[in-house]
Amino acid sequence: MNQNQIDQVSDSWNDMLTAVRAFHEKHAFRERGGEEMTYRIALMSEELGEIAECVTKGKPKDKLAEEVADLLILLIGTGIAADFDLRRAFWDKMDLLAKREGRMVNGRIRVSEFRE
Ligand SMILES: [Mg+2]
Repeated sequence: MNQNQIDQVSDSWNDMLTAVRAFHEKHAFRERGGEEMTYRIALMSEELGEIAECVTKGKPKDKLAEEVADLLILLIGTGIAADFDLRRAFWDKMDLLAKREGRMVNGRIRVSEFRE
């Protein structure tokens, strides 16, 4: 897709979900093991490794973006596979994160639930 085509495609959550759902249906993921959670975890780990490789090997930004997109598609698909509302979970978590304080840990900002 060129930039014009991308600009014309809606970027709403529902459109993204519909596209990933269609991808799952096209390849019959549910019937052919593509929605099995252990397999999906392995696939997500693989993509995370590819993201790491972009950083450690100094690959160009468009390659990094492609690998992050791979992971995003898998994450959206995992919501489909496990039948939960990822949009809801995203906003619930963002609400929670918005209430947390950040803390510097070893020179880097960390926003987490610190329990000590
Ligand atoms: Mg990849």
